[in-house]
Amino acid sequence: MPLGEFDLIAKYFTRPVRRSALGIGDDCALLAPAPGMQLAVSSDMLVEGRHFLSTVAPERLGHKALAVNLSDLAACGARPLAFTLALALPRADEAFLDGFARGLFALADEHGIELVGGDTTQGPLNLCLTVFGEVPAGQALLRSGARPGDELYVSGTVGDARLALEAFRGTLALPGEQFERVRAAMERPQPRVALGLALRSLATSAIDVSDGLLGDLGHILARSGVGASVEVDAVPRSAVLAAQTLAWQRECTLAGGDDYELVFSAASHDADRVQVAARAAGVAVTRIGRIEAAPGLRLVDRGGATVAHTFGSFDHFRT
Ligand code: ADP
Ligand code: MG
Repeated sequence: MPLGEFDLIAKYFTRPVRRSALGIGDDCALLAPAPGMQLAVSSDMLVEGRHFLSTVAPERLGHKALAVNLSDLAACGARPLAFTLALALPRADEAFLDGFARGLFALADEHGIELVGGDTTQGPLNLCLTVFGEVPAGQALLRSGARPGDELYVSGTVGDARLALEAFRGTLALPGEQFERVRAAMERPQPRVALGLALRSLATSAIDVSDGLLGDLGHILARSGVGASVEVDAVPRSAVLAAQTLAWQRECTLAGGDDYELVFSAASHDADRVQVAARAAGVAVTRIGRIEAAPGLRLVDRGGATVAHTFGSFDHFRT
């Protein structure tokens, strides 16, 4: 007999809550944010074939589904509290559920957060998570605060997830060990939660890179009413990506997407504090350009020459 809906929820997704007022089992979960805090809420949906390949190991899918949501809390400088999981499954496949739940809860435990509710239905594989975090009132990092003269930064390295996707597509070939490294970047992204917290009251704006560095930076520029220049060769990349042609390096770093690094601005006089925050958070942060008053995005190479801006951003209804 296949597992029923409620047995499935009980077996794979119900764990005692520790910090929420009420978890799974009633009509609503109850959260108790601390006084003076605002709730930060974000949802991300993952659809098979659209956001992940059917070849992904269930454990990695569980990790990624939560990671991409935590990345949004990180971009707001919010501390994660709890999450919900709405799940459509073609069938109650226990091997899948076991791996998925393991990956999901391993990352949840790393961040001390708990699953407090959700919904389970039969249908094409689809995962929708909502995360709840808290941030002191008025201190959330927003897209709208970048000012002319601010420096622009990105965390970690970008472009590997796109490189892995191209290898999966067969557009380019990578030796086995290099492929596994970029594949891990695509399938096991690390949300920059600690960095987001360290950047509170330091970053003037922030966003996480899900659709491509330049496209996501464009959201900061639009919301802030500013422009920027970006030194394309300064954008940090892995050794695997740095071994590709310059054209691929630029395409993957600037328009790749699925990176879940943070792009943010900070006042130029805070450059040292930014590096202190990055060290405390255990992640490298690289300066990639500057916010300018003139609208638009200007790309320059190492020698200062203009680079044509032909890099797209992922759009579900245009690609
Ligand atoms: P309702 O019909 O009131 O929406 P359900 O019968 O769908 O509730 O779900 C029963 C309980 O199990 C609820 O507390 C719900 O939040 C929880 N739940 C359902 N699916 C999941 C899931 N995939 N992960 C976590 N909790 C879930
Ligand atoms: Mg109900």
